[in-house]
Amino acid sequence: MSDLIERARELDARDPLAAVRADFVLDEVVYLDGNSLGALPANVPGAVEDVVRRQWGELRIRSWTESGWWTAPERIGDLVAPLVGAAAGQIVVGDSTSVNVFKALVGAVRLSGGPDAGRDEILVDASTFPTDGYIAASAARMTGCTVRPLAPAEVPDALGPRTAAVLLNHVDYRTGRLHDLPALTAAIRAAGAVSVWDLCHSAGALPVGLDSHGVDLAVGCTYKFLNGGPGSPAYLYVRAGLQDRFDSPLPGWNSHAEPFGMRPEYAPADGAVRGRVGTPDILSMLALEAALEVWSRPDVSVDAVRAKSLALTDFFLECVAAYVPEGRVVTVTPRAHAERGSQVALACEDAGEVMERLIAAGVVGDFRAPDVLRFGFTPLYLSFAEVERAARVLADTLG
Ligand SMILES: *Cc1c(COP(=O)(O)O)cnc(C)c1O
Repeated sequence: MSDLIERARELDARDPLAAVRADFVLDEVVYLDGNSLGALPANVPGAVEDVVRRQWGELRIRSWTESGWWTAPERIGDLVAPLVGAAAGQIVVGDSTSVNVFKALVGAVRLSGGPDAGRDEILVDASTFPTDGYIAASAARMTGCTVRPLAPAEVPDALGPRTAAVLLNHVDYRTGRLHDLPALTAAIRAAGAVSVWDLCHSAGALPVGLDSHGVDLAVGCTYKFLNGGPGSPAYLYVRAGLQDRFDSPLPGWNSHAEPFGMRPEYAPADGAVRGRVGTPDILSMLALEAALEVWSRPDVSVDAVRAKSLALTDFFLECVAAYVPEGRVVTVTPRAHAERGSQVALACEDAGEVMERLIAAGVVGDFRAPDVLRFGFTPLYLSFAEVERAARVLADTLG
């Protein structure tokens, strides 16, 4: 045990991201739930105070132009873009992930030609976060398609002339498995179908490469590894080459070519703006903008975050193997780096009670039914010492 404590000390001493922790509000709790709600960035309270007291309280309506409120969805989209490997002008921030899944999936079926072109099937990752599946079922009903649930690895064989769209998770929220986005996207493209990726558990934790891999559409949330705060707005990516043909199922006035023309006929705006719907949620959105400032630090990059994420999860698995009696938990997350997101999922029968005791002992992860202990690793603010402590407390809790 003292061996692993010593190793943690060395790893922390060599950690190029160690100084970033000071940009977050944390305490003595080991917080391994940043894959559900990221910790508070220290600059956010002041930024929100300014938005409320000065921008809203003093400038009032003038802030839509003078404080840049109106253009915030595209401006903040351009801050998210480099984190997911997208050039500027393709991401718009707003609404929830669920709403953006709806826009993206109906838009994808329309882009494919849909049932009129013989494409009447939507393939959906069967282990998907439930909301994606619910929305996919409704999108299918609306567009005259059927949903076919399957495992991501089964997608290449299932693709065909009837495939309209494919909705996949980059990282599985329960197991932490990272799927092969480049290969699956290429297969979907080759079949003439449209790809929609859900990046909720990868954006801010690992490289995505939307542009370089030719992804068509993508959505993601910002309150997990991007630390945007509870309910912070999600985002929608529409590849530049598809924007002209993207036909949103929610064409609100914010996506109109001339929103203040107040015309009875709808005419879509060009570019990412087409993904907007109604008036943006400015308080949450500007909290997110402040939260994203950490990515402009010279020592912070997606590659540095990914390297530390793998080191943290490797070290956690090593500590668990050393401290927890063999067979007490089963590691659900793949060992291979190429298949691992930024979380570790461990299964055991009494996972629900174990997590309650663990939280009471100052190590916060979460429980996912029926038997999964989920630990998220946010490289921007976690130390190796905390990871060692979490595994040690887990072993005590299990024992
Ligand atoms: C967290 C998460 C969501 C959340 O959807 P909201 O509409 O933001 O509540 C959706 N999909 C996946 C895969 C998630 O992990």
